[in-house]
This record gives sequence, C-alpha cells and structure tokens, in this order.
Amino acid sequence: MHINLKIARFLDKAEVIKYGISNISKIKPWGKKYKSAITLMLNIKPGIKKHDGVMMDRVFHSYSLKMRNITDEFSAFLTNNKVQNKVIHFKQNLRLMTPFSHKKAAVLSGLGWIGKNALLVTPEFGPRVRLATVLVGAKLPAGKPVTKSKCGDCEICVVSCPVKAIKGKNWKPGMPRHELLDSKRCKQMMIRKEKKLKNDYACAICWFVCPHGAK
Ligand code: SF4
Ligand code: SF4
Repeated sequence: MHINLKIARFLDKAEVIKYGISNISKIKPWGKKYKSAITLMLNIKPGIKKHDGVMMDRVFHSYSLKMRNITDEFSAFLTNNKVQNKVIHFKQNLRLMTPFSHKKAAVLSGLGWIGKNALLVTPEFGPRVRLATVLVGAKLPAGKPVTKSKCGDCEICVVSCPVKAIKGKNWKPGMPRHELLDSKRCKQMMIRKEKKLKNDYACAICWFVCPHGAK
C-alpha cells in the first residue's frame, strides 16, 4: 500500500476530529528537511458555561496530554514505515509562540483562518481547538490554503479582552502576529492573575467568546 494511503488510514482511525496537510518546502529552515506538515486537531469542549481561567488551564492541559499520546503513536507509526518525522508539540515559550507555527501550517492546509484574536479560527469549532503538527519528509497531497479572514465586522473578542491586547485588525496572509495582538500585554495579565490566584490560569476569554462554531 502506498504511504499516502497508509497515513490517511491511520489518521482516519486516530482520535483527532480533523487533520490537514500543507506543503512546507518553502518554509525556512524546516523546508530543507521536511516536505509536508500534518496538522492534527482536537475539538476542545470546556464543559463550562461561564469563563473560568483556572478551569480553562486544566482543560487545556488535559487536551495537551491527549494530543501528546496521539502524536507519539503517530510518530511511531511513521518511523515504523520509514517516514522521517518530527512532532511539534503545543508547548509555548514566554512570547506565547511554538518553535514551528501550528497556525501557519493549519492555515496552509485549509483548516481555518487567523482571527482578530490571532488564534486559528475554524468554521466548525471556532478557535476551540488544540493543534499539534507533525513534520514529515514525504511529499503528501496538500489542502487548499485559506487566504481570507472570515471575521468580517465582528469585534466580540476585541471588546471582551480585559487588557485591550487585541488590535482589531482583520488578518491577511503573511501579516505578523504583533499587528493583530499585543502578546506582552496578554502574557503579563496572565502572570498577574496567576500571582494573585496562586494558581495556573489561562485567560482565553477571546477563545471562549468567539461565535464561530459555538454550540
Ligand atoms: S487571552 Fe485574554 S488577555 Fe490575552 S488576548 Fe485573549 S482575552 Fe486578551
Ligand atoms: S470573536 Fe469575532 S473577531 Fe474575534 S476571532 Fe471570533 S469571529 Fe473573529
């Protein structure tokens, strides 16, 4: 069986809600070694009606663990099939960034657009997703990149942000994140909250309030 089909069969059975494939051969420095990125997606269901940052942090953590198990299994499958691979986990640094942009790969694969809140927004689940990316050495059939924001005139996340970190611009491909979001303001607010509450805290109000995919 061809490796493309094997991968598709594996992912169809995996516990992810959706996945997307993008061509990363032009993304530096990753494109030198890897040809495709596979974005794996889980739909986060917080199970709470009212925003609660302490609870949100726990929910995010549990979905990260779930995703880690899925990517570990997927990576082992790829290695057994002699496909060079590298898993990029969700873990962020102090600038709220990952070493490889999950969002960039997701947009290139056609899974969604970047919202005014600088998060990936999907038509089905809004921003309520957990992503992981697996880079692979094989060239796989890629999805159609999304090139337009569907936020339109919506400003719900902009006005809901407690520290006015969201600048209110509609995303365009290639736009740097700082044009959408003041990530320092966002991170500092969360650090202040954590100190006050003496607990881990994930603000995520802009994640919680987005009407796309809200059920
Ligand atoms: S996480 Fe909170 S502080 Fe940060 S941008 Fe979203 S709403 Fe604003
Ligand atoms: S709340 Fe509105 S503006 Fe913000 S990301 Fe969602 S759709 Fe876009």
